[in-house]
Amino acid sequence: MNQQPSVLIIYTGGTIGMAQDPVTGTLAPVRFDQILDEVPELRKFGYRIGSVAFTPPIDSSNMTPAIWEKIALTIQRNYNLYDGFVILHGTDTMAYTASALSYMFVNLSKPIILTGSQLPIGTIRTDGKENLITAVEIAAARKNGEALVPEVCIYFDFNLFRGNRTVKRDAENFSAFVSENYPPLATAGVDIRYNTEFIHYPGNAGILKVQTGFDDNVFILKMFPGIGRKVVESVLGIEGLKGVVLESYGSGNVPTSKWLIQAIRRAIRHNVIVLNVSQCQGGSVQMGQYETSLELLNAGVVSGNDMTTEAAITKLMFLLGQGLSREEVKMYLRRSLCGEIRE
Ligand code: ASP
Repeated sequence: MNQQPSVLIIYTGGTIGMAQDPVTGTLAPVRFDQILDEVPELRKFGYRIGSVAFTPPIDSSNMTPAIWEKIALTIQRNYNLYDGFVILHGTDTMAYTASALSYMFVNLSKPIILTGSQLPIGTIRTDGKENLITAVEIAAARKNGEALVPEVCIYFDFNLFRGNRTVKRDAENFSAFVSENYPPLATAGVDIRYNTEFIHYPGNAGILKVQTGFDDNVFILKMFPGIGRKVVESVLGIEGLKGVVLESYGSGNVPTSKWLIQAIRRAIRHNVIVLNVSQCQGGSVQMGQYETSLELLNAGVVSGNDMTTEAAITKLMFLLGQGLSREEVKMYLRRSLCGEIRE
């Protein structure tokens, strides 16, 4: 039996693979083989490394559910050929992609590690080399024949996070991601330390399945002081709207204005699912703790508990895309599908 570890790198785009246009000075994606040429260290692992490059490579601001599905199906097609998978992805929407992918896989028993960088890989001070090299090492890591981290993760700046717990918090610092409500699954220093008590290991993993389908009839409604009645009423009254992530204050609070609660009640009566998450990066929604959230509870708003907005909106799109009943969608929103919410 061939014991050589193997990793498939899937290049979707992002700063990691960009170079400066000598004329215009803007950053644009380059060819994938140019990235690998920048990191000859990867060969020293002695792994079998395969690669797939999406064409054209994209800035992740152009990410779509169709590309999430393409990534998932690429992994499914190659699942038995590799020990782990590394996805090179722009940082801007990496937390959304990681969340969406985490819901799509059933019976995942191999690592899927997303990474990227703040500086292109060809620049001298790039953070991309370390991110890519360690992501590959983690994707290949096994113990007693089993993957050490069989989850969809983001590796960035010496931390491995559960993907659906992350938020992009910084546009300049190398530590671009944070996971306030769940500890890192590993940290990289002299050694890579795996926090195995926080990693989910599948009991009896069956055959990998990929569930596709996302519904985009959704919206994120963020509260702010002075939010206007006309805007809220029109948004909540959009024809065909199926779900709203309500980004509330603190532990799930919104203004007590009658018109706001009435607009939310009306939307719920029209079968819109309203999911309450906090604008805070840490902590959770606890509806009923304050007067300002009790009305939401009574109106039938679903608590997003400690989910990030990224995990919440992709979960809503995913569940609405699975042909479930409204009650089933609400039930699964409250439950953990793959560690995105505290139960
Ligand atoms: N705009 C880039 C992207 O998300 C930023 C990055 O990669 O860091 O593709």
